[in-house]
Amino acid sequence: MSVREILTAENPILRRKSRRVKVFDGELQRLVDDMVETMHAARGLGLAAPQVGVLQRVIVVELPEDEEDPQGGKRYVLVNPEIVRREGEEVAEEGCLSIPGYVGLVRRASKVAVRAQTPKGKRIQVEGEGLLARALQHEIDHLDGILYIDRVEKPEDIRALEPEERWDRAPEAEQAPR
Ligand code: ZN
Repeated sequence: MSVREILTAENPILRRKSRRVKVFDGELQRLVDDMVETMHAARGLGLAAPQVGVLQRVIVVELPEDEEDPQGGKRYVLVNPEIVRREGEEVAEEGCLSIPGYVGLVRRASKVAVRAQTPKGKRIQVEGEGLLARALQHEIDHLDGILYIDRVEKPEDIRALEPEERWDRAPEAEQAPR
C-alpha cells in the first residue's frame, strides 16, 4: 500500500468524468487500499479515485468514530456508486482534500440511498444521512468532475479555515503555503 499524491483543484483531471469499473481484479483492490491509506494520511473523511489521478468510478468514505452516530468509524468502499434516492435538504459547510484550507456552504440532500458494487463486484446498497449522506454526494460528484465550489450559491459562502481548524494537516502531508 502506498500514499498517493492528491491532485488539487487547478488540475484538469479533476474536471473529467470517470469511467465505470468493469474489471474487479487485484489492481482495483490495490487502488482501493492506496485510496484508504491516502485518505487516512490526509485526515480526510472521503476520497474519490480522480483525486489520485485515476479516472475510475471508485470512492471511499470513512467518518470518525462517534458514540452518537452509528455511521461513524465504518468504512465505505464503493465502486460504480449511483444515488438512487434522495430525501430532504440541508445546508452545511464542507471541505475537500483537493481544495486545502477552505470550506464552503453547500446544499445537499439530507438522506441518500446509493447503489454500488464492492471491489469484488458484489452488488450492495448503502443508506446514509447527515454527514455520511453529504460525504457520499460530495465523493460521487468527483466522479462526474464536479467540485463543491461549483455548488456553493454565492462566493461569500466559501471561507478560508483558521489554522486551528485545519483537519487535513498531517505531519507528512505537503501543504502549499497560501
Ligand atoms: Zn473532495
